[in-house]
Amino acid sequence: MKLSIKKGDFVKVIAGADKGKTAQIVAVNADNGRVIIEGKEIGQLKKAKKARKSTDVSGLVNINKSVDASNVMPICGECGKATRVKHALVDGKKVRVCGKCGAVLETKKKEEKKAKATVRKRTKKAAAPVEAPVEAVAEAPVSGDATVSE
Ligand SMILES: [Zn+2]
Repeated sequence: MKLSIKKGDFVKVIAGADKGKTAQIVAVNADNGRVIIEGKEIGQLKKAKKARKSTDVSGLVNINKSVDASNVMPICGECGKATRVKHALVDGKKVRVCGKCGAVLETKKKEEKKAKATVRKRTKKAAAPVEAPVEAVAEAPVSGDATVSE
């Protein structure tokens, strides 16, 4: 089974117990079509594990939840929305693109982190003004501000 979800993707859970939460894919099982997700909001399952080797310790271990791949949608790093994946050819290579804005969905780590930060911001402050642009803050006159705030 070919999945459009890849390890390292940030995804939104669209069905099941964790519906609406965001998570990161830590593993993909192409055989049964399930993905293992990890995230602050997601939580973990406890599993009793018996020591099988002398180096093992018996007890409860935390394991990441797994969900069906169809229950998650990748979050686009460009537009920050959960999207269906489309495919396109770029330089002869098949790449995944966002179905909403057409940006290529990257799986590089740095860009994922950026995407995650954007998503969190938007989900938390849904009603409030979305982002304070960094450039605007930097451009604001320094001299006037200090006196006003005191
Ligand atoms: Zn997009």
